[in-house]
Amino acid sequence: MSYVFSPAPVPSVPVAGSGEQRFPVHRIYCVGRNYEEHAKEMGFTGREPPFFFMKPADAIVPVGAGETGRLPYPSLTANLHHEVELVVAIGQGGRNIQAADAHRHIYGYAVGLDMTRRDLQNNMKKQGRPWCIGKGFDASAPIGPITPAAQAGDVEKAAIWLQVNGADRQRSTVAQLIWNIAETIEHLSAAWELQPGDLIYTGTPEGVAAVARGDVLEAGVHGLGLLRLQVV
Ligand code: MN
Repeated sequence: MSYVFSPAPVPSVPVAGSGEQRFPVHRIYCVGRNYEEHAKEMGFTGREPPFFFMKPADAIVPVGAGETGRLPYPSLTANLHHEVELVVAIGQGGRNIQAADAHRHIYGYAVGLDMTRRDLQNNMKKQGRPWCIGKGFDASAPIGPITPAAQAGDVEKAAIWLQVNGADRQRSTVAQLIWNIAETIEHLSAAWELQPGDLIYTGTPEGVAAVARGDVLEAGVHGLGLLRLQVV
């Protein structure tokens, strides 16, 4: 057997404190409107069942510790938004995982950005069309190193923030999640069989806004270090 051309390389994320080890990415799942104050700023209220969308695995922009990643400003938009998110990295797959068992399936955690072409997403929403063009574009999923769960501290209550050019844009705590990590895994694994290598972007707190070329984004979740990128 041979391929008609070389397969694309496996997208992967550095693992913090592991030397050269990397986490191979299978799929990227994202949770929509999972912080109440962000749901409000997007025009919604209340605790609705969680909903999901996806990005291609090769949309990641992995950034190592101490590095400044390059985030290319995408085509077709004049309103590129940042969304800082806690990312859950799945190490053990499964379907119909109960919330009580969910933590056994987690390999670790990272800081990620769910970059969004908000103008295109809003257009698609209005027309009842899929969000792919607003959410699943190339380089739409920057991510810092994955910290193994045992070294990550209590991420469920950790501060989460994002600064642009040194000024606060988003600041909250993971405790504000509407659907917590275990509940999210329960819902997600009822819809898809989770696999090792899956990433879950768990949603963003309030304060989403536009960035421009030249901006420096610094995002963090306490205990997971910093994710730093420049828009180019
Ligand atoms: Mn998001």
